[in-house]
Amino acid sequence: MITTIVIVVFVILVVAYFMGRDEEEAPDEKVNSSPQKIPAKPKQVFEVVKIDNPTLSIPESESIPDQEVESYSDENTTYNVSVSEMTCTCPDFKKHRKGVPVNDPRRACKHLYCVLEENNLLSNLSELALAILESPSKNKKLTTVKLSSGNEVSICHGGNEWVDVFTRKRRKGDSGGLYSGKYDRFGFNINEQRWSYGDGPPGAREIKSILSQVL
Ligand SMILES: [Zn+2]
Repeated sequence: MITTIVIVVFVILVVAYFMGRDEEEAPDEKVNSSPQKIPAKPKQVFEVVKIDNPTLSIPESESIPDQEVESYSDENTTYNVSVSEMTCTCPDFKKHRKGVPVNDPRRACKHLYCVLEENNLLSNLSELALAILESPSKNKKLTTVKLSSGNEVSICHGGNEWVDVFTRKRRKGDSGGLYSGKYDRFGFNINEQRWSYGDGPPGAREIKSILSQVL
């Protein structure tokens, strides 16, 4: 008799358990039967640090006389370079750099850079200004943004399908994601959505995402 009661109670408990579970699962089944919702992709959040920030300031250049600089491709041609006016008579300067503000490093063609360097006028410049001087971009706009890692990236864009990205390289021993290496220029092709070589700079994927919003 006692055994029968125990069995009946056990069966009741088992049935109650499964009924309760069915009730609990019911809402989930309803959700599953409706079309699956795909959450909207969050918009990339980035901080624009500076926009069009000219960083070239060389007061000593005013005392440097104009100089003739030989063409790199034709030794019979020379160009007149004035670092006090930040002008050069070469075709690159006339075509691409004449309209750039005097205190913007993108104004310097390779001849202007050569004279500035020969006269030791580059020592007080910021590392970014120096990187742009060494590898001047023809692009019109310069936007500096901060990545989620804290690294700053300066993007030169507007002009052609190639965007110039200036950022620091990783130095051995860097920790915490902040890079302290030398500034370098990386080319990115907007049309083909690819870096000019390799995997691009540190944070390349985030930079690519930012580029799609900045350009
Ligand atoms: Zn020049």
